[in-house]
Amino acid sequence: MSLIGLVLAPALGFPLACEIGKTCEVQNYVDRIEGPGVGDYRCGSETYEAHNGVDIRLADMAAQRRGVDVLAPAAGRVSRVRDGVADVSVRVRGQAAVAGQECGNGIVIDHGEGWESQACHLAQGSVKVRIGETVRAGQPIARVGLSGNTEYPHLHLTIRHLGRVVDPFRPDGGGCEAVGGPGTGSLWTARAAVMMSYKPAAMLNVGFSGQTLTLDGVDDPGPVPAGKTAPALLAYVRAINLRVGDQQSLVVTGPDGKVLAEARPAPQARNQAQYLVYAGRKTPAGGWPGGIYHAHYRLVRDSAVVMERGFEVRIP
Ligand SMILES: [Zn+2]
Repeated sequence: MSLIGLVLAPALGFPLACEIGKTCEVQNYVDRIEGPGVGDYRCGSETYEAHNGVDIRLADMAAQRRGVDVLAPAAGRVSRVRDGVADVSVRVRGQAAVAGQECGNGIVIDHGEGWESQACHLAQGSVKVRIGETVRAGQPIARVGLSGNTEYPHLHLTIRHLGRVVDPFRPDGGGCEAVGGPGTGSLWTARAAVMMSYKPAAMLNVGFSGQTLTLDGVDDPGPVPAGKTAPALLAYVRAINLRVGDQQSLVVTGPDGKVLAEARPAPQARNQAQYLVYAGRKTPAGGWPGGIYHAHYRLVRDSAVVMERGFEVRIP
């Protein structure tokens, strides 16, 4: 990356109409390690082999169905468009079916001076722009979908300069050493950099369910409401970007303050993109006593608590 190229780089705004930490999270960054082995711009493992963009993931399929706008990260001119690819998980379609169209429905915007952005996995029929059209920064151009090579609703955004992939979090080449504060050395606007500030891990979904829940079930159809006579009562956390050695715990206490259930999965044997922890019990005869049920989740990494959260539900 030449200095001139960086000087002329566009400032990139946050490319989605969602709220990081509430309705979406960053799942993957650019893999900065050439060849075998992975490393994101902070030398973490929040990426996968040869991943060439940033993945911003919606909390679940319900959010995708409600519709979340994809926004032009900067002003420019639309140079390529694809629409018409079905919103079906690659686990259903199979890898062969998405060969040659891994991006699914996508939009490429030419930002000038050799810079371009490519947005992928857009919802079928949601593309609002045409080739040659001029867009302004922040303009809604499509909605998040499930098209192409994806298992969950997310936006994949690749940034290129003169045809080469650039990591917007650290556009200068080289390794993965940590950079300074938010915005330092990145292509993002200050606001976008703060929104996407690096986390050691994240909680994508947190809550109580009135029925047993699977990892897939959190995405779709989602948990059923907890209640006095629901089949069960369980607290759950879907954590993303777990690292080998991570230790999680989830403890549920009843209105009487006593521990009702707890889960302490074995330390992570490997890095994992997502993991569902839950703790609970079948509903007793006569239903749950009324009151507030608390849950406390904790993630310990290298003997330090890196993520923690308490949450509760009231049973009438
Ligand atoms: Zn991606």
